[in-house]
Amino acid sequence: MKKSIAIIGSGFSSLSASCYLAQAGYDVSIFEKNATVGGRARQLKKEGFTFDIGPSWYWMPDIFEKFFNDFGKSTSDYYELDKLSPAYKIFFQDEVITIGDTLEKICTEFERIEPGSSVPLKKFINKAATNYDIAINKIVLKPGLSPFELVTPKTVTRVDQFFKTISGDVRRNFKNPKLISTLEFPVLFLGAKPSNTPSFYSFMNYADFGLGTWHPKGGMYEVIKAMEALAVSLGVKIHTNHTVDKIEVSQQRAKGIVVNGELKTFDIVLSGADYHHSETLLDTSYRQYSEAYWEKKTFAPSSLLFYVGFNKKLNNIEHHNLFFDTNFETHAEDIYDDPKWPEDPLFYANFPSVTDASMAPSECETGFFLIPIAPGIEDTEQLRAQYFDIIMARFERLTAQNVKNNIIFKESFCVKDFIKEYNSYKGNAYGMANTLSQTAFLRPKLKSKKVNNLYFTGQLTVPGPGVPPSLISGKLVAELINKHHSN
Ligand SMILES: Cc1cc2nc3c(=O)[nH]c(=O)nc-3n(C[C@H](O)[C@H](O)[C@H](O)COP(=O)(O)OP(=O)(O)OC[C@H]3O[C@@H](n4cnc5c(N)ncnc54)[C@H](O)[C@@H]3O)c2cc1C
Repeated sequence: MKKSIAIIGSGFSSLSASCYLAQAGYDVSIFEKNATVGGRARQLKKEGFTFDIGPSWYWMPDIFEKFFNDFGKSTSDYYELDKLSPAYKIFFQDEVITIGDTLEKICTEFERIEPGSSVPLKKFINKAATNYDIAINKIVLKPGLSPFELVTPKTVTRVDQFFKTISGDVRRNFKNPKLISTLEFPVLFLGAKPSNTPSFYSFMNYADFGLGTWHPKGGMYEVIKAMEALAVSLGVKIHTNHTVDKIEVSQQRAKGIVVNGELKTFDIVLSGADYHHSETLLDTSYRQYSEAYWEKKTFAPSSLLFYVGFNKKLNNIEHHNLFFDTNFETHAEDIYDDPKWPEDPLFYANFPSVTDASMAPSECETGFFLIPIAPGIEDTEQLRAQYFDIIMARFERLTAQNVKNNIIFKESFCVKDFIKEYNSYKGNAYGMANTLSQTAFLRPKLKSKKVNNLYFTGQLTVPGPGVPPSLISGKLVAELINKHHSN
């Protein structure tokens, strides 16, 4: 008899785990509260426009490829990938920096801004490439059970990089504030301030400048569709519109899950929902982490998001655009140090229809705008409207065009929606930050210490926030389950 396993949620980590577990011979069933799979990576289709609701940067293509290779497949069996050229554009108050699709092009752009800067840039990226190799091949594939996992012949020579910060490293090598912001941007994906992120994480700079920015034709949701198809082909049963209300435990063993008042029994339970929420599905005595524990942690930001349909093609934009025309430090303080709505927010705008005609009706533009904000802050319609006006005015000025009268529709998504749609702790957008004290074995554990057959996966566990780490998290937890309960 195959062992049965219930997976709560259908985000990247749950889908990844489901594939590995089905391949290993388990009878796998996914229970997702929402109507469609994908978790934070769902899709909005409206009036001929296609929006990715969550992630839009396809970085680290090697990790996606490795995932499909593990099942004898390739990404190209499911979706078409384009390397974006340029990768993205950054708007500053008085200048625009364009990040090309090769290091050579990026060096030329750095030289234009700060003569001589291509020399330290090449050195910085070389070191980042070595860190990437160590991180991806030696560190992130560890389940975070003990500090000794981090001790390898290659990591011991880099211990200092865990105690220095990215921010310090960048400032030692570059003087121009725009180049500093450019090099600090990638670590924002890890959810913390660059001044609080170990310099070893410069491997994100290699992911950016070395491996490039890609786009799956049709959007990021194509990856979810691919994983869903793979999971189904491996025998995974997917139940959407199924909210799990309780994990039923008896004598330190999960008996199963309660859905619509009915207990469904399983041999093993795995939750890919936000860790904090997953533990609230247990009786208090079976929870490992207290409210005080979560309260003390540094969470990745929440976001105010707008999905906008424009009835014309826009000028002076690329597929990905960062608006860094205001103070990076002040905005970061408003997120992490003294949580409040930022006065002059940085923001990000994504127009996938610039490179992919399938994302919008002809002669139209699909626009996604994101302002990172502190998790848990006040979220009202009035605040959303106020911030839309702020960023639209800046967008029009910096891209030298009028667009407000060309909006067919706009939808917003913020703290309250993250809580309602995903049971996200304080409405965080992408989990728990990867700071020094919240890295690897210091993150919430994949296996419950109190319930023998209960496991967790996703961006609050190892390795951390982001789509590639979520794919890896699913693989790690599947390996751990297989080790403890092999069929
Ligand atoms: C706006 C935004 C932009 C982002 N941009 C990027 C990017 O560009 N690149 C990148 O790599 N990453 C990005 N990320 C991060 C990335 O999307 C996440 O790290 C990743 O999708 C997390 O996957 P997960 O499996 O951990 O969790 P989730 O996607 O949150 O999945 C958890 C699932 O559990 C379900 N669930 C919760 N409670 C229950 C319950 N009681 N019963 C049943 N189901 C339940 C939820 O509905 C959800 O489907 C972004 C995230 C956001 C929000």
